[in-house]
Amino acid sequence: MADRSAIGVLALDLGGTQIRAACVRPGGQIVAARRSRTPVADGGEAIVSACIAALGGVREDLARLSQPPPVGVGISAPGPVDPRRGLILDPPNLGRTFHDIPLAARVEEALGLPVALDRDTQVAALAEGRFGAAAGCEDFLYLTVSTGVGGAIVSGGRLLRGPDGTAGELGHLVVDLHGPQCGCGMPGHLEAIASGSGIARRAREAAGRGESGLLADLVRERGAAFGARDVAGAEDAGDAVAARIMDDGREAFAAACVSLTDVFNPTLIVVGGSLATGQGDRLLGPARAAIEHGAFRRPASRVTVVPAMLGDDVGLVGGIVLFRERFGEADGVGAEETRA
Ligand SMILES: [Zn+2]
Repeated sequence: MADRSAIGVLALDLGGTQIRAACVRPGGQIVAARRSRTPVADGGEAIVSACIAALGGVREDLARLSQPPPVGVGISAPGPVDPRRGLILDPPNLGRTFHDIPLAARVEEALGLPVALDRDTQVAALAEGRFGAAAGCEDFLYLTVSTGVGGAIVSGGRLLRGPDGTAGELGHLVVDLHGPQCGCGMPGHLEAIASGSGIARRAREAAGRGESGLLADLVRERGAAFGARDVAGAEDAGDAVAARIMDDGREAFAAACVSLTDVFNPTLIVVGGSLATGQGDRLLGPARAAIEHGAFRRPASRVTVVPAMLGDDVGLVGGIVLFRERFGEADGVGAEETRA
């Protein structure tokens, strides 16, 4: 009889630049990982084919390694998605021909395995809640600060989805009624001020107005690659305009954390994403201080703001948690063990 703890789920992490696939075991270990470029320029059908090829390749690798076959598939996809129907709706960074794609059904048909699909931030929250910074925690918020700002809400041990599966878009909280326009079209959202794309856009505008020679030089040198990392570097080099833009981002993030603490009474606010990882306590410190001074006393004394733990693997590791949440644990996936 096969070792039940070795029976896993195929996981797919579909992103705007890369597709990652692997087998994930019940304890969260990643086996037979693959990585390929997302063929955004080739259109929606090419992306679906690349996803199926990546998963099929992992399954072949498992067979070659004499590993037990996977029992299903868990997919982390860029939002917005319809998790019940397994549809990816109209994500902003997968090209114009990628909309209303029934990725779960297409993978199910190709591989003959049951498939669960959800938004990347929901999958990340499931992963952090089972194997990461929020392991064992029933009430927490997950925030990712990178190109955009995403979120997820876990309350009473359940991921909040709402009737359309779109709940938890914490990046689109209003933090400044008269603030800059968000990518979604509304003014003053957290994402417009605190995200990598928001910070880069504001820095480009400031450079265009001639407010900072250093930012103007960086915009010219880096071209399309100019990003929040350059703005953070300019702040470290003593540029006052860059410092103001980065400070606005930190303040907006802190203000959102105060509101979220009052609204959800979480035990933890788990913060992931490349910009948050790069900034570390420079981002989390002001949020902790603002909660202490600005949130209601009881929830403020309960909540802790912590960095996420699972890094780039979060979308893969969450695949098995999502699958088990959807299909239960009776599908041959073995008992819990500690993640190595
Ligand atoms: Zn928005």
